[in-house]
Amino acid sequence: MNIALIAHDRKKEMMIQLATAYQDILAKHTLYATGTTGAKIMSATDLQIHCFKSGPLGGDQQIGAMISEDKMDMVIFLRDPLAAQPHEPDVNALIRLSDVYEIPLATNIGTAEILIRGLKEGLADFRVIIHEIEKKPLSL
Ligand code: PGA
Repeated sequence: MNIALIAHDRKKEMMIQLATAYQDILAKHTLYATGTTGAKIMSATDLQIHCFKSGPLGGDQQIGAMISEDKMDMVIFLRDPLAAQPHEPDVNALIRLSDVYEIPLATNIGTAEILIRGLKEGLADFRVIIHEIEKKPLSL
């Protein structure tokens, strides 16, 4: 499954701890991240991550584009609700698109843990089924 990892600056340490704790689960999936978040996780773990641009430079929008093509299966976005972000519209757009496409989305560590544990238990497998249905040709 394709999983996006994003953390605002004051949440990056928390994201590293999360990725370290659940490295075994995350390593079984294809990981994407905004630039700085991805670089920090990779330097702290053995995880391989496709890094987009930094969030304020368009990385959130790049992940949003994948969501809009239904190519993202889960979004872990540790956002900082106590700091103004220069790219607030991009942040809101990413959250909105996750809702538009019904993508499991965690915006804090509590939900993130539940989603990642659920991933291990197969609770997100409906995403695989959706992809299989999308691949089937329409029979008229
Ligand atoms: P960053 O972007 O990982 O490049 O810091 C995160 C964000 O602020 O959206």
